[in-house]
Amino acid sequence: MDIQSDAPATALSTVRDAIARSERIAGRPAGSTTLIAISKTKPVEAIEALIEEGHRVFGENRVQEAALKFPALRARYPDLQLHMVGQLQSNKAEDAVALFDCIHSLDRMSLARALAAAMDKAGRRVPCFVQVNIGEEEQKGGCAIADLPQFLDQVRALDLPVVGLMAVPPADLEPSPYFALLAKLARAHGLDQLSMGMSGDYENAVRIGATHVRVGSALFGSR
Ligand SMILES: *Cc1c(COP(=O)(O)O)cnc(C)c1O
Repeated sequence: MDIQSDAPATALSTVRDAIARSERIAGRPAGSTTLIAISKTKPVEAIEALIEEGHRVFGENRVQEAALKFPALRARYPDLQLHMVGQLQSNKAEDAVALFDCIHSLDRMSLARALAAAMDKAGRRVPCFVQVNIGEEEQKGGCAIADLPQFLDQVRALDLPVVGLMAVPPADLEPSPYFALLAKLARAHGLDQLSMGMSGDYENAVRIGATHVRVGSALFGSR
């Protein structure tokens, strides 16, 4: 099927059905996976097409782009949920805390301190996923696996609401072993939410326990 020529409504129901099927195969409760529609680089009209189908949960990877697109949408649809899934600079922490309902890219202490200060100032606690560099790739963001126990201790000491782990497995490798490793790390640290799986691999991720899948091109067409 050509994803790009798929109308947004069709793409959404295709992805929803695939998630439901994977939940069933894994013996998980129906609806236990949150689909985050990653709308980076896509225009507001494309987002609205999914909103009209009843979808409410979106993700962006840049603070500036989200700040241009979402405040007007939120004014019209107050129940929208916006997730930050990209690398976040500490100097954008205040903007991020104001804009987003969840942050998936907490990966270093400088950012943790900036987010904690921004949340105190705003009087708003924004749930965070700790991003793990699950494939130990040099160029990739995320906390090193070996540093995770200490990082979680330090972040929790700042009173940041850490809800789970997030990862992007290495491109071009079978992702399932990385999903399984992330799930194991989360269990070991008493975290029950898992942000993993994108357009190419979200069904596998759901079977392995993803509570949040981040799907862009399968919904909106290629970028
Ligand atoms: C862009 C992006 C996605 C979505 O990728 P698709 O392959 O288009 O589904 C998911 N997660 C992160 C962190 C991203 O930057």
